[in-house]
Amino acid sequence: MTTALITGIGGQDGTYLSELLVDLGWAVHGVERPGSTHVTDTQITRHIIDLGEPDAAISLIEATDPDYVFHLAGISSVWRSWNEPVLTTRVNGVSAASLLDACFTHQEASGKRVMVINASSAEIFAGSGERRQDEHTRIAPTSPYGASKALSHTMVQVYRARGLEATNAILFNHESPRRPDTFVTRKITKAAVAIARGTQSTLELGSLTVERDWGWAPDYVAAMLAMARHGTGDDFVVATGQAHSVANFVEAAMSAVGIADWRSYVRGDPDMFRPADSASMIGDASKAHDVLGWKPTKTFSEIVSAMVEFDMTEEMAA
Ligand code: NAP
Repeated sequence: MTTALITGIGGQDGTYLSELLVDLGWAVHGVERPGSTHVTDTQITRHIIDLGEPDAAISLIEATDPDYVFHLAGISSVWRSWNEPVLTTRVNGVSAASLLDACFTHQEASGKRVMVINASSAEIFAGSGERRQDEHTRIAPTSPYGASKALSHTMVQVYRARGLEATNAILFNHESPRRPDTFVTRKITKAAVAIARGTQSTLELGSLTVERDWGWAPDYVAAMLAMARHGTGDDFVVATGQAHSVANFVEAAMSAVGIADWRSYVRGDPDMFRPADSASMIGDASKAHDVLGWKPTKTFSEIVSAMVEFDMTEEMAA
């Protein structure tokens, strides 16, 4: 039986990936942070570990003896990384270094191949100055989050050169109803529903002009599984190739609840402006398409509608 270890199993991507792998009949081990109780599926073996502790990975890899490690755990908010830069570096960057080293050591000792898929991020390219980014774009982070992911990304390349099949999934933004409402997209869809129902009057946002390449989270998880099946370590951008602004997102969410004059509900919040944000992040996923046969399944408006629909059901049930 194929064995996978998923770090960050209780997060947006971890839950989708674990469901996919359990359905495939894989043995799934998942790492949750102490105090987290997201995982309830008894088919998953839970390991309660703080990956910010550098030595945690060694015993974890020995105990689970995985064929594949999906390293998804992390502080995933750029915003939070400004408030906790050292913790972000430990959890996102140092944890990758210790997991990779533990996998390499285990592979050397056991003779059994271990493959690692690391959740890298488009944020490593935020300061590259290139409007459309691919695997060859210059690594130039502009936030503690981006820098921590750049560390994990380059560590993957170092261990790949050393003999570990290690892959960077360079993930552009991806959303779903499982995205926490601390992220702007989910904040918008929840607000649209609340405004339509009359329980909220305004929506406070930072820049409306920032553009992102927003995809559908289950598609991005499918891409990571395709990378594991590909079997050879490499770097792959995962993106839709389509840019939309925050204003486009608000407009689509409000339109999904029947509000046309969305601008009259939006207020600017100066505290939410982040000068270091890249104005535009758009990914070129041609390589993932050509090598893995991967392509996104949902359009931008389908993604926004699916999130609004979920929030509507939640709000009605409340
Ligand atoms: P997420 O929902 O925030 O999940 C991250 C998971 O990591 C959470 O379950 C979190 O646990 C766990 N975690 C945090 N600190 C930990 C620690 N010290 N020890 C063990 N676990 C810890 O993020 P996601 O959206 O699924 O993203 C998955 C990965 O892809 C992340 O590394 C993220 O940075 C990266 N990524 C995501 C996107 C995106 O648009 N979603 C884009 C590019 C890259 P708690 O919930 O208990 O804190």
